[in-house]
Amino acid sequence: MVRVRFAPSPTGFLHLGNARVAVVNALFARRHGGAFILRIDDTDAARSDGSYTAAIREDLSWLGLRWSEAYRQSEHGEVYEGAFERLAAAGAVYACRDSADMLAAWRRERSHRAYKPGVLPAGEGLTYWRLALGQERLAFQDAVLGEREVDFASLSDPVVRRADGSFTYLFASAVDDVTLGITHVIRGADHVTNTGTQIRIAQALEAPVPAFAHLPLVLGPDGEGLSKRHGSLSLRELRARGVEPLAIVQLLAALGTDTAPEPGADLDALAAGLDLGRFGHASPRLDPADLERQSAEVVRRLPWTAVGHRLPGLIDEPFWLAVRANLDRAEDALDWWRVVNEPLEPVIEDAAYTRMAADLLPDPVDFDAWVAALRRETGRRGRELFHPLRLALTGRERGPELKVLLALLPRDRALGRLRGQSA
Ligand code: GLU
Repeated sequence: MVRVRFAPSPTGFLHLGNARVAVVNALFARRHGGAFILRIDDTDAARSDGSYTAAIREDLSWLGLRWSEAYRQSEHGEVYEGAFERLAAAGAVYACRDSADMLAAWRRERSHRAYKPGVLPAGEGLTYWRLALGQERLAFQDAVLGEREVDFASLSDPVVRRADGSFTYLFASAVDDVTLGITHVIRGADHVTNTGTQIRIAQALEAPVPAFAHLPLVLGPDGEGLSKRHGSLSLRELRARGVEPLAIVQLLAALGTDTAPEPGADLDALAAGLDLGRFGHASPRLDPADLERQSAEVVRRLPWTAVGHRLPGLIDEPFWLAVRANLDRAEDALDWWRVVNEPLEPVIEDAAYTRMAADLLPDPVDFDAWVAALRRETGRRGRELFHPLRLALTGRERGPELKVLLALLPRDRALGRLRGQSA
């Protein structure tokens, strides 16, 4: 069974960059009927903040991504200890004692060679542990980036355990992937350089090696790394601005592939269309402004069942269906509710014409017959015919089709507005 994980570090809010990794993992699990696991990578106690953990969970839920298991690395100390002991027993890790001087000297010239840890006489320096990578080359197939190869001879043996006894992220993450039975590690391309080492750890633990897929990092519309100056990036901000979560998922699922984000697609359709092989090798560009457009497209298709609970009780399904095609944000339905149900000051462009329109308004209201009569009496058509009516009836330049609006407006109110009265 497919088991994937999204493994954020709780050091900030989810933003479009890391949300993309979550989206691809969740859709991949859904597509394969597998498990989507949330793992909070909080081994770095100094940088981790519990409130971010809560926020990450909330933001993922808001996106509609549900996990079936959740873990925290900070609770896995014993698991890491056990894995470390096995590696130590197998001779896959070794203790080092370096003096600060030796490390400083290596750092000065690290571009030239891999670090070869020294072994000091006991009692000097602090003991910490490295993984023995060996000298060979290791090839792996990345589901996004294709064939990759690491030359272990060119890499320093990575530290797996620090002198204070804590385990490094690289080690904890690889051990977790193995113990949680992760079948596919789908993550940002900034981690591709860790992959050789993590495969080595899985092998040393005699565990199946997961498949890897690294998504190229997302750039802003100008080709620079996506950042604040490109607009709102955190899911929190986007949510506060009324952006639809489904629009975010649609856009992120399509980003970097040759497919266009489909505003009508639900999570099942997006999952069915997800194919790791379709993600390009190059960094995709994302313009946060595209999100607003995508979101408006989603709003205009939202069924009542998906939106009713978010709107004030005043608004009912027929009303929603009447106005949704004109909304950018679902919450704006309330503005139209006010236009229809609360008095407003009409805008009169041509008083003689709108007064005549009031006189010709059939009782009961019949929009088509009304328009036909107006055409006959005035010879007007198109904008000349409709625009003054729209301004009088709604006080606005644009909005839902007049036929739809008129069906919602009480007849007296429509008459009053056409006659220039606040109604
Ligand atoms: N905690 C890591 C991050 O947020 C996850 C890396 C991984 O997925 O292996 O970048």
